[in-house]
Amino acid sequence: MNTTSISIVSTAAALPLVERLETLLIDLPTIRPHKLSMTTMNGQTLMLVKIHCSDGIVGIGEGTTIGGLAYGGESPESMKLAIDTYFTPVMVGQDATRVQALMARLGKMVKENRFAKSAVETALLDAHGKRLGLPVSELLGGRRRDRLPVAWTLASGDTAKDIVEAEHMLSIRRHKVFKLKIGARSIREDVAHVAAIKHALGDRGAVRVDVNMAWSETEAVYGMAALADAGCELIEQPVASAAGLAHLMRRFPAALMADESLHGPESAFEIARVHGADVFAIKVEQSGGLFNALRVAAIADAAGIELYGGTMLEGAFGTVASAHAFSTFANLQWGTELFGPLLLTEEILVTPLDYSDFELTVPDGPGLGITLDEDRVRFFQRDGLRKTVSIAK
Ligand SMILES: [Mg+2]
Repeated sequence: MNTTSISIVSTAAALPLVERLETLLIDLPTIRPHKLSMTTMNGQTLMLVKIHCSDGIVGIGEGTTIGGLAYGGESPESMKLAIDTYFTPVMVGQDATRVQALMARLGKMVKENRFAKSAVETALLDAHGKRLGLPVSELLGGRRRDRLPVAWTLASGDTAKDIVEAEHMLSIRRHKVFKLKIGARSIREDVAHVAAIKHALGDRGAVRVDVNMAWSETEAVYGMAALADAGCELIEQPVASAAGLAHLMRRFPAALMADESLHGPESAFEIARVHGADVFAIKVEQSGGLFNALRVAAIADAAGIELYGGTMLEGAFGTVASAHAFSTFANLQWGTELFGPLLLTEEILVTPLDYSDFELTVPDGPGLGITLDEDRVRFFQRDGLRKTVSIAK
């Protein structure tokens, strides 16, 4: 064997490979019941995936849903099963440094499962960022901002309580944009609820609503006109279909935002094609990962659609992954709602995230730039020291 071939062999041997995937479920209580049109959340379950690489580096990603299976086809438990059973054999032994190539390989062998794919892509990027000493935002092309505005969702279901909560958020300078979850009650009650909150806050706080697809088109016509009159500036997914959204466009003096209709680049292109939204609520998990979220943003920019950084109410890892992606967007006209960790009573990071002056600081350490508190995970892990059962009922 000559020296050239020896050097090729030794380079190949040094390539960091995916060695092992580890998944865990963490059940955490929320600060209050979170009422949505389709469910009420009393807790949140995080699915964390750790990707152990042959160079000793471990990357962490998160998959989280809203209300178990109430929002979509994946649950934390189904993600764990899909990763343990189907993702692992596809990924183990592969080059851990070629994240997009590995995700493409996974895409060929595993259909759908966008949230689970987002979790493993996050873990691969976290690992590779740690390996290179770069934040994930830099692996995605480079951040354009270090801080992201963060809206807060008022979803106690009680108007007076929501006003007290909004006043508190304004006084501690944590949030000044408020999203109200409506659609579970009659339109008349919902509009009165929104109008009362906007009236109480005045110009100190912006008010937006999320209907979570609860209305028919005729209900939406009445509801959107009344909400615009009440001072609501943005109405999120009032009806289910992209075609239905398109029928409602530019008829009322409030912006129309697509959320549930967005399932990654192909759906983004279709909504843009039918002029179905003024704004996209981009969610990294709904998009199927960070690179796909960037593709959705590019389609929006090309179509003149404005951007908002959405949340699946993830814990710290999903939230920070989203923050890295959103920090790279050319446009982010409507800010973000990356408040997920603030809805949980328990901290799982060694150093908590910085929410201050109405914004979240995008961590700037290598990878995601955050560290999991392993002792707390051992406590809150399902069947861990606390012996929890699922609380995301
Ligand atoms: Mg929404």
